[in-house]
Amino acid sequence: MTEQENSAQDLSAQEAVEGLELAKRLAEIRYKIMVLSGKGGVGKSTVAANLAVALAAAGRRVGLLDVDFHGPSIPKLMGIQGQVVAMEEGMILPLASGPALKVMSLGLLLQSEDDAVIWRGPLKMGVIKQLLKDVRWGALDYLIVDSPPGTGDEPLSVAQLLTPPVGAIVVTQPQQLSTADVRRSIRFCERVGLPVLGVIENMSGFVCPHCGARVDVFTSGGGERLAEQVGVPFLGRIPLDPTIVKSGDEGKPFAAYAPDSPAGREFAEIVKKVIQATEAELPRPSEA
Ligand code: ADP
Repeated sequence: MTEQENSAQDLSAQEAVEGLELAKRLAEIRYKIMVLSGKGGVGKSTVAANLAVALAAAGRRVGLLDVDFHGPSIPKLMGIQGQVVAMEEGMILPLASGPALKVMSLGLLLQSEDDAVIWRGPLKMGVIKQLLKDVRWGALDYLIVDSPPGTGDEPLSVAQLLTPPVGAIVVTQPQQLSTADVRRSIRFCERVGLPVLGVIENMSGFVCPHCGARVDVFTSGGGERLAEQVGVPFLGRIPLDPTIVKSGDEGKPFAAYAPDSPAGREFAEIVKKVIQATEAELPRPSEA
């Protein structure tokens, strides 16, 4: 055998081992939810973080994984910025955020936020795979993946690596709905065989900080209509709420710290729907 053939064989053997390790890791997770958006800045990470917190508060064992190269904001949203990541036997140990929630973010593994942006495509794919394979979550009910935005190679890698049962949540804004972003995200899910758990319309209407009244700044209801047109569930509308900005800045997820705010109440309804939709497919935790 030539040297070239030998190294090709070594490479495919290594890939096979990695594939087995990934399958083993993902088999410990009962349900994976990929949180997607057509573009950045619509509140995808906010939804991912608060969904993880709310599911943990509802008694589920949850992992929150941030692989958003364009701005890994989970450390800030969860108040764990600058914490040091430990390794054990070559595995990355996630950070604990309360008894039922573990968190890992690309942002915790970088020297500076700009590091990730300059990586070339293949390197990013390798990092996504490594984070899915090498984080020692242990047994989980849910892994929430804060995916890179858009429908390009990065979310594609995430979608292709996650094994069923898996579902996607698409986050959008009301004014975006006139564009093709949501349709594109949903078509992306269809193409990669990713079931869509539903669409969330974020920053939908404004909650007055003085009187608490809700004002529709943009047209609303578009998310619901669009979800109906493309045949996917509509999970709910989260208002533009100053509490969310404050809680994001302070690293205190509103689902836990402001459950009675307008956004907190809406979000609780969304979480109920997510639990219903996902657990309908699974045996109850006690039977697992
Ligand atoms: P993405 O992950 O889509 O880039 P983020 O979740 O990081 O977006 O949110 C972008 C900014 O918008 C953050 O400062 C966040 O606190 C704020 N934000 C998100 N959702 C809301 C909302 N419903 N009301 C007010 N501010 C919000």
